Amino acid sequence: MPGFELFGENERKEVNDVLDNGVLMRYGFDGMRNGHWKAKELERALEDKLQVKHAQLVSSGTAAVSVALGVAGVGAGDEVIMPTFTFVASFEAIMMLGATPILVDIDETLTLDPKAVERAITSKTKAIMPVHMCGSMANLDALKTIADTHNLLLIEDACQAIGGSYKGKPLGSIGDLGCFSFDFVKTITCGEGGAVITNSDKYAGYADHYSDHGHDHVGNDRGKESHPFLGYNFRISELHAAVGLGQIKQMDEFLAIQKRNYEIIRSAIAKIDEVTFRAVPEGGEESYGFLSFSLPTLEKARKTMDAFKANGVDVCFHYYDNSWHYIREWQHLKSLKTLYPVSQEVKDGLAYLETKSYAQSDDIIGKNISCLIKLSWTEAEVAERAKKMVNAIRAVLDY
Ligand SMILES: *Cc1c(COP(=O)(O)O)cnc(C)c1O
Repeated sequence: MPGFELFGENERKEVNDVLDNGVLMRYGFDGMRNGHWKAKELERALEDKLQVKHAQLVSSGTAAVSVALGVAGVGAGDEVIMPTFTFVASFEAIMMLGATPILVDIDETLTLDPKAVERAITSKTKAIMPVHMCGSMANLDALKTIADTHNLLLIEDACQAIGGSYKGKPLGSIGDLGCFSFDFVKTITCGEGGAVITNSDKYAGYADHYSDHGHDHVGNDRGKESHPFLGYNFRISELHAAVGLGQIKQMDEFLAIQKRNYEIIRSAIAKIDEVTFRAVPEGGEESYGFLSFSLPTLEKARKTMDAFKANGVDVCFHYYDNSWHYIREWQHLKSLKTLYPVSQEVKDGLAYLETKSYAQSDDIIGKNISCLIKLSWTEAEVAERAKKMVNAIRAVLDY
């Protein structure tokens, strides 16, 4: 997945354009720029690739989720439904706005279980936020139906799934708003960066202003612009955008390499009867940034991870035993450790986490292993890796 593996002349050229004129900021300084607007150019490229009307670049994927929720009007008193298996940014962004994250079970797609979502809806629910983890998606038709029935927003976190699609539409473009990350380990990287995409002119205008202190960006004197509402600084720098512009020009090539490498490994381990693969909703196409599969038990998944390590098979993750992507180890959230006071409403709203168990998620994540698909592997290296993985899994299963 990581775009940083294939860094080169493209990125250097774009960055040098910026360094040559010295304008490191995305707004203003028109006369000094020699016509270079890297952030704007990358936004147009994203709109084109993701087939949406608007893309707003921001400083990170976490910022993208915060901006998406904020411009959609999520705030104090609201509940946002999110999955137990995700990146910590999901609840961080929700809580930054003073809203309450409601964590619900995942299903065999490794993303939000629509039945669990339906059960979690209350009069306070404002949005459903599926997270398309490890390159594949939630059942978006089912979630959209639920959102429409209950008049809720659907916000897609597609940070790990750029290039994937659902019924012919790019992931991130299906909900009211979609979020992407361009941090250092994502498929396309800016170093740090993110984007919010939407087909709504209203949300796009809000995102443009909100991510830059509420500036309305009318005229060419920042000091004289008006501020229709309060905002914050979630801007991306022109240097970071330049790196991303170099990367996005290679996106199709990156995706083709991912798919080739994914298929070599998948077809090798598919020969083992006891191994099953994550469910992909009908009409979905993965980004192929990860290959996710399950062993028959938690015990066997742990042993497989040990066998992978012993045989030099790296970049595979058993999220059940990882503190970053799965609720089991999020002690700081469960006991609400913050540096500053949190509203009583959020405290009360999160009290359920002290006792709630997620048996269905535990079962699925316990058996699952997700392996990163790298771009820099040669075909011969992938074949060798596939062989090692098969041998390691067979040794565990025969044991
Ligand atoms: C990476 C990631 C984010 C946050 O992106 P940053 O750019 O690192 O802030 C959010 N959600 C998911 C699913 C991610 O993988």
